Order: sequence, then structure tokens, then C-alpha cells
Amino acid sequence: MKKVIFISAGPGDPDLITLKAVYHLRKSEVILVDRLVSPEILKKYSSSKRKIIYVGKLSRYSKNKNPLYLTQKKINDIMIYHALHGKYVVRLKGGDVSIFSNIMDELIELKKYQISYEIIPGVTAAIGAAAYTGIPLTARGYASSVRFITLHNPNSIHKDQWIEFLNTSDTLVFYMCIQKLDYIFDKLIMNKRNIYTDKLVAIVEQATTPMQKVYTSSLYNCKELIRKEKKFLSPSLVIIGKTVNLHRKFKWTSDLFFFHKKNYFVS
Ligand code: SAH
Repeated sequence: MKKVIFISAGPGDPDLITLKAVYHLRKSEVILVDRLVSPEILKKYSSSKRKIIYVGKLSRYSKNKNPLYLTQKKINDIMIYHALHGKYVVRLKGGDVSIFSNIMDELIELKKYQISYEIIPGVTAAIGAAAYTGIPLTARGYASSVRFITLHNPNSIHKDQWIEFLNTSDTLVFYMCIQKLDYIFDKLIMNKRNIYTDKLVAIVEQATTPMQKVYTSSLYNCKELIRKEKKFLSPSLVIIGKTVNLHRKFKWTSDLFFFHKKNYFVS
């Protein structure tokens, strides 16, 4: 049967993959891999006969420099080609396949060709970061909801939305925002009167990997943190909320915790 299996690779630690994902990786013949997938996963869990195709799309800025850059159309074409030839095709994406990914474009294409598919869930970066920093995102008394947010075009966000972000007691997790931090925090602290002093910000770099780093600050001082650190390594995400206060008390990872210093990401 012609089929594609979408597999969630998790946020970095290769052991965060599911048993179901491993089952399919072992049987795979062709694997289309995204940029943020840990190479350990391919080494440990895929069959030796599989063909690996790196299809990671880089940011538009590096498009011209990288010969491996593939457009979404090209990725779709490669996936369809192998599926139509009856290969056991796996589409492997970082974190959870359904969160901030182009899965819908690929599903539409599969439907067009009447190719069936399975979607295997996994640990999205926010959930991995929450666990490995000791920040329970909905801790009782701290937050009753959590939101996953990406700001592709922060300029298009209305002033009222920024005020709402500041006033909500929800924990906010911002994905794909590290290049726009200055702008985001400028907007958030625009109205100084509204700043909740009990809210903290955590910037989590390379969560769940041996290179994980956590920077925390008050919302008010985060501009200072950005100035001091200058550049956060990719991938990073930002957690904002009262729950971030729990990091100091419940953090449990340290350099000793990780045995190997490895490069966990395909670049
Ligand atoms: N599907 C992925 C998200 C892809 S968008 C998932 O479910 O996690 C890519 C963004 O995810 C990055 O810009 C970053 O904000 C976040 N991200 C992915 N892996 C991460 C990690 N290990 N640590 C911190 N942020 C990560």
C-alpha cells in the first residue's frame, strides 16, 4: 500500500521518541528529515538500508548560500515520488509533527495522490523544555492554561493583543521568536503600569540536549538580559508567566546529568 508515516522526533534528547516511531523507523526505506532532528535518532533507530534525505528548510536569509535548500514543493515532490514507487516512506520532523510545521501542505499533497498516511505524535519543544527546566506549565495556583504562540509577523499584532499577553495569567510559550526578542519585549513592556512583578521570562536554548541553557529574568529586565547575552543559540524558545518562578525550586538537569556532549541537531 502507498503510504507515508509522519513521525515526531521530539525536541532533542533522542530518547524522547515513542515506541511507535521506532517501530516505523526500523522498517523505513526512505526517510525525509528536517533540520531540528537529532542525528542520534537516525543512528540508533533507523534500519541500515534506509535512504536518508535531508530536506530541512533554512531561513530565507540563507536560501541562496545553501545548495541543500529545498522548497516545500520540492519536498512534496520527493515524498510523493517515493510513496508512489511503493517505498516505506517516513517523514521525520522535530518536536511534534503537528506543531508549527508544514504538515498540512504535505497532507494536502498526499490526499491529491490518494496516498494514505499515519501521524505519530511526540514531545513538542515547549513540553520538553517544561520538563527539563522544572517549569510545570499549568502548576496549580500559577496558571490554568498554556498557550503555544509563534509570531511570524509581530508587526501585524494589534496593540490590544500585546496588552492581553501581558495581562493574562496563562503561561505563554513563544516558538520561532529568537531573532525578534527585542521587538517582542519592547511591545510587552510598552505599558509599564501593567507589568506583573510576579511574572518571569525564561529563554531556553537547545532544550533537552546536553547543551541546554536556561536564562531567566523579570519581564522588566529582559531587555537587559538580551543586551548582555546578545545572541541565543538556535533552537530556543521563550516561556513567560508566573510558572517560570518554579524553575529555581524544581530544576533538576545539570551538566552532570548528561553523560555525552554530542551534537544533537542536524544542521
Ligand atoms: N514541530 C516543532 C516546532 C518547529 S518550529 C515542535 O513541536 O517542537 C521550530 C521552533 O521550535 C524553534 O524556532 C524553537 O522556537 C522551537 N524549538 C524546537 N526544538 C527546540 C529545543 N530543543 N529547544 C528550544 N526550542 C526548540
